[in-house]
This record gives sequence, C-alpha cells and structure tokens, in this order.
Amino acid sequence: MKKNGLDTCYHQWGNGVICTYGKFKRTLECEKYLQYVDNTSDRISLTRLRISAHSVRIERGRYERVDNKVLSAEDRICKYCNTGEIEDEHHFVINCKLYDNLRSDLINRLSLSNLSKANLFRVLMSCNTKDTAVEFSKYVNECFKKRTNSTSSFM
Ligand SMILES: [Zn+2]
Repeated sequence: MKKNGLDTCYHQWGNGVICTYGKFKRTLECEKYLQYVDNTSDRISLTRLRISAHSVRIERGRYERVDNKVLSAEDRICKYCNTGEIEDEHHFVINCKLYDNLRSDLINRLSLSNLSKANLFRVLMSCNTKDTAVEFSKYVNECFKKRTNSTSSFM
C-alpha cells in the first residue's frame, strides 16, 4: 500500500511534534481556518497550537532539566490544575481545569456537548467550519492569555 506524505512524516517523526498534528491533520492542503479567522491574534494562537509552537509544557518541557537530563514527556505534568495529567495539547484544549469556564462557553456556542472528549478534540483542532475556526481560535487565544496571567499553583 502506497503511503502519502503525511503517513511518511508520522512514521519518520514518531512521537514528536508531528504526532499531535497527525491526530487531526489528514490531508495536504491549505488550511481553511487561515481564511476563516480574520482576527490576527486569534489566528496566530490557533496556528501555534496546531503546529506545537507554544509554551504548553509538553513542548516547553523539552528545555527543562532534572538531574542534568531533559524532563521526560511523562513528567511534563500540568502546573495549572490538580489533575496530574501531562500538559499536552489535548489536556490544554479538553481537560485542563484552568479553562473550564471558557471551554463550557465554547461548547455551548458551537453546540458540541454531545461529543466524546476524543471527538471534541478532533473536531475543534480540525476547524472544518468557519464557526468552529472562529470560535475555537478565540478560545485558544483566551486560554493562552489566561495561562500567561495565572500563577502555576501546583507542583
Ligand atoms: Zn491542567
């Protein structure tokens, strides 16, 4: 079976940055959300999340050292809630308690309360409709701002 370019990327890059991207990116094409989202700040925030160019600990933790070793991915626990979960993109978007209120508003605005968490993550990150792209990019931007302005209270 012939693999497309993305399958090759996933295979070659394994569990790195492209791993998250592969959870919602299935085709090689120009991203529609780039046209849908007029607000520059919201669009930049969404792009940073999608390509893992952000300060969420799963990425920032690559530069943390413990006993002269890079902090392992399993130890990059969220410092902003008490769930004990790794702060990766899925945690940031779906599970982190710090953004519960923002997330509830988002889910209500987009009428997505019937989705499982896994499907919710995929639908939001895919941004296949203008409403989803506009509302989700705004949510991501607000979450990044809230995270920046919050003191990490755990760990
Ligand atoms: Zn958290």
